[in-house]
Amino acid sequence: MSDISDLYREVILDHNKSPRNFRKMEGADRTAEGYNPLCGDQITVYVKMQDGVINEITFQGSGCAISKASASMMTASVKGKTAGEAERVFQDVHKMLTGELNPDAGTERLGKLAALSGVCNFPARVKCASLSWHTLRAALKEERGVTSTE
Ligand code: ZN
Repeated sequence: MSDISDLYREVILDHNKSPRNFRKMEGADRTAEGYNPLCGDQITVYVKMQDGVINEITFQGSGCAISKASASMMTASVKGKTAGEAERVFQDVHKMLTGELNPDAGTERLGKLAALSGVCNFPARVKCASLSWHTLRAALKEERGVTSTE
């Protein structure tokens, strides 16, 4: 069990150190900003859709290791998916973070996102991990304004 925790920690540290898709996107057709006042995490998500698929997705922002790693993993996992598919991943991640979904049961669908499963043991960090997902959802729905976890 501790081996798995170590592996998960390594994945999170790696994504925090070298976040994927961490840049501003010029010409994005969807953007949304998210803010988690509990921790001070801030994020902007940029999306470019093509034929109903998330063709390109990047993010920028500042925050704790969990929020950054989660955002990095989020962009890597939804790229190439439709908005509907991304929503289903969002639902799984949300259930995993709140302890409703056993990551072992859903590993195939969640893939590397299972690395975030340990967060459910730290309720204060759940919002750090889910911030980027809420922000993505707002971007896909073209909601304007800042999405807050509160
Ligand atoms: Zn945070």
